[in-house]
Amino acid sequence: MHVFPGLALARSAQGYSRLGPDFLTELSPEPVPGPHWVAHSEPCADLLGLAADWRSPEALALLSGNGGGAGNGIGWASVYSGHQFGVWAGQLGDGRALHIGEIENKGQRFELQLKGAGRTPYSRMGDGRAVLRSSIREFLCSEAMAALGIPTTRALCITGSSLRVRREDVETGAIVTRVAPSFLRFGHFEHFAHHGLLPQLQQLFEHVLDQHAPECRDAAVPAAALLERISRQTASLMADWQAVGFMHGVMNTDNMSMLGLTLDYGPFGFMDGFDPGHVCNHSDHQGRYAYARQPNVAFWNLHALAQALIPLVPGAPETASEPLLAALESYREAFPAEMLGRLRAKLGLVSSLPQDRELADDWLKLMAAHHTDYTIAWRRLGSFDSSAGASNEAMRDLFVDREAFDAWAQRYRARLQAEASSDVERRKRMTAVNPAVVLRNHLAEGAIRLAREGDFTEIERLLKVLQRPFDEPVLASDAGFPPDWAAQLEVSCSS
Ligand code: AMP
Ligand code: MG
Repeated sequence: MHVFPGLALARSAQGYSRLGPDFLTELSPEPVPGPHWVAHSEPCADLLGLAADWRSPEALALLSGNGGGAGNGIGWASVYSGHQFGVWAGQLGDGRALHIGEIENKGQRFELQLKGAGRTPYSRMGDGRAVLRSSIREFLCSEAMAALGIPTTRALCITGSSLRVRREDVETGAIVTRVAPSFLRFGHFEHFAHHGLLPQLQQLFEHVLDQHAPECRDAAVPAAALLERISRQTASLMADWQAVGFMHGVMNTDNMSMLGLTLDYGPFGFMDGFDPGHVCNHSDHQGRYAYARQPNVAFWNLHALAQALIPLVPGAPETASEPLLAALESYREAFPAEMLGRLRAKLGLVSSLPQDRELADDWLKLMAAHHTDYTIAWRRLGSFDSSAGASNEAMRDLFVDREAFDAWAQRYRARLQAEASSDVERRKRMTAVNPAVVLRNHLAEGAIRLAREGDFTEIERLLKVLQRPFDEPVLASDAGFPPDWAAQLEVSCSS
């Protein structure tokens, strides 16, 4: 156990590490030269209940993988497998993430993980490191998603180092301290099922039921209840992503959280000009993880999880898949309902009418046809003047074919009148769900370029803005159109 001023880490008897050597390997992080603080998140520190003085020299050493203090930083890396780009990839695991312990606050337990802390037995060809660039992106996006109200792993801080890390170019290494109740992935279950390690699969299942889904125990078929639970959580998460225009970029089953959290930020992106076919990851040549495909990919991934759960269903193997298939159906029912709920809220509607789906779909089609900026168009729609004859110039300006906008606006106006909507009240509702600021690539890039020169002030400034995404930012450009150079930014799996 580490006891530092303000940062006390323990290894809980209920945590994943109790499962033992079939599930993880114990090891220490590899120390780095020149450790220093790059950024930290106050809301995440509050979530953990850390004292104001938590950023001590000992904490810096611990969170850069340089140990220090009691316990000497012994951590563990877990083994998992998974499907990558639709193909079975075999054994993977925490190749560059090391669990260093847990913190309990207000009855909730959180695991802390150092991403980029050095090689593990699961590193395969990798160096176990993460570069400053990708660490800044993961840190900012984790905290931005949380502020948008979207389930996600959190990020406490980034520590930098002078370690040279080779990617396309030589960059410097950094470590993100990630925080979550659990980093369990679909791939953890797939691992034990695929390798026929049934006692371990059962043990993992019991652990998840105990720690994360106790209500599933009482169900007729607990494995099906767990699958239904995660199907519904994933449906809600996909609706959240689609609603804010978030693209994960690498929705492999090893990046899918068993708790329905957004997990493993790599080549993610937020939609600029609306294109449902947009692929944010330049390594994804087939466009498997295009924006519009995400909800179906999630369903595919849930199928892979269901396969892994078959041995956990009591009874004859021929009939074991039946309750699981039934549980999967809950996704098909939940996702459209969740999505329609998000779209209604984004349109500022309070009642439900049968034509809402078509109204929302036609709005999305209109934006797609004009490549309208997704975030700005939704945000401006909040200021839509529904009085007869209002011209709504600020909205019309977003569309080349103004008559096409007018035709849709006429229907929107009629729909608002049907529920006697007040523009003032509707605007308040819409401002609270349609963010002004999302972490567009060019915003992250601005912070990265300065950080490479040793100036971390833009990370801090941007973090503050992203922590209040529904407020109009002081700097109008944070909520503005992306600059022309943003189109040239390429984000790939290299991180
Ligand atoms: P990702 O695409 O980042 O989700 O990673 C897929 C797998 O590759 C996981 O098992 C990671 O731990 C591993 N991995 C990715 N990058 C590295 C690296 N630089 N060193 C070691 N393992 C890595
Ligand atoms: Mg991953």
